[in-house]
Amino acid sequence: MIKYSLQCNNLHQSESWFASSEAFEKLKSSKLLSCEVCGSTSITKSLMAPSVKSKKETEVNGALLQQSSRKNSLIEELKKKIESTCEYVGDNFAEEARAIHDGESHERSIYGKTTIQKAKSLLEDEIPITPLPWHDRKSN
Ligand SMILES: [Zn+2]
Repeated sequence: MIKYSLQCNNLHQSESWFASSEAFEKLKSSKLLSCEVCGSTSITKSLMAPSVKSKKETEVNGALLQQSSRKNSLIEELKKKIESTCEYVGDNFAEEARAIHDGESHERSIYGKTTIQKAKSLLEDEIPITPLPWHDRKSN
């Protein structure tokens, strides 16, 4: 079983369990997935919550987006857009996002890697970050 965070094109979020990523794709392509709030069938999975932790801290990708971007675009499109409009800050994502939020760094959109713990603490401080639906495989 895999847990996905789902988001519709109206940015409503929910979580659901699926047998596999194929099961998710199948349901999605047959339009059997719909938003609990507005009924939209334009659903994307915004984050795959890790069910197995292979390392002490699991790395997640995150982006700080100053402008709200359309969330219903395809993952590849989103990735390209983020790579062309945001600055890559690598492992310093959490620190940089916080610095921008606190006004200690100049305002811009950034993306990079951080740990789930750090991402959580950013969210707890209401620093707007968006989990990105892809993974860097470099860490293996
Ligand atoms: Zn919705």
